[in-house]
Amino acid sequence: MRKIRAMMIGAHPDDCDLRCGGLAMKYADAGHTVKFLSLCDGSGGHQSMKRTEIAKRRYGEAQEVARKAGITYDIWDVPDCEIVADIASRKRLTRDIRAFAPDVIFCHRPNDYHADHRNASLLVQDASYLLIVPNFCEDAPALEKMPVIVYFYDRFTNPPFSPDVIIATDDVVDRKFDLYDCHKSQFYEWLPYTAGKLEEVPADDAARREWLHGIRVPRDGTLLTPETLETMRTGSSCEAREAIQAALYREKLIARYGKPYVFAESFEICPYGSQPDADALKELFPF
Ligand SMILES: [Zn+2]
Repeated sequence: MRKIRAMMIGAHPDDCDLRCGGLAMKYADAGHTVKFLSLCDGSGGHQSMKRTEIAKRRYGEAQEVARKAGITYDIWDVPDCEIVADIASRKRLTRDIRAFAPDVIFCHRPNDYHADHRNASLLVQDASYLLIVPNFCEDAPALEKMPVIVYFYDRFTNPPFSPDVIIATDDVVDRKFDLYDCHKSQFYEWLPYTAGKLEEVPADDAARREWLHGIRVPRDGTLLTPETLETMRTGSSCEAREAIQAALYREKLIARYGKPYVFAESFEICPYGSQPDADALKELFPF
């Protein structure tokens, strides 16, 4: 089996977990190598902790994710809301990507609502061609082969997300919630605060872990529509959100696996990386 090197690049230390935590664990379980990289330090993500304190806490939370998922989790020292697609960042990212030498890179789409997500996406795209250009960042040997670049799923409609790969994640979804549970400062504090739901969060560890799931999605073969799942979204995170891609792209799941699944993660090929044919896609996504 060919060993895949997957580099997942998000703006904040929880973006990769949310967008491709299931796929990341599938890669790691199968002996492939995964790195999450957050381009911002997470220092904006709290209502009462100081920037330096929350950044340090979130670094620790990310390292717990790394241990649980069997991956590495790097975080740049750029403050939240301050990542820009400038030349210095382009060079830094080029060096980081070359050092890891990924077969496949994952990133946000460039039409995201959040400036950090947009700039993280731009940086990956700006660095993409340069990865193979020896005279750019000469101190870091250029890659010989351009990686495939894929976008995370999102719900922005201009243009709409159009998945090329959809991966069933029923077998890892509970462990994905374990990853969310590591980000205590976010899922039990900051995100409920921003949603006006801080009062809802149970104090007890087990109760809030269950609260994280929200309303349970049936796993008895009942298939819900995206509209029904939408009505089930509760709390700061929930099973319904994890299930919505499987409902939206059910036909693609059936085409891939011969049957529907309850949970899935989906990905769109970015036009600026290597363009994989069907065989290359099978090799990169062997699940
Ligand atoms: Zn983010």
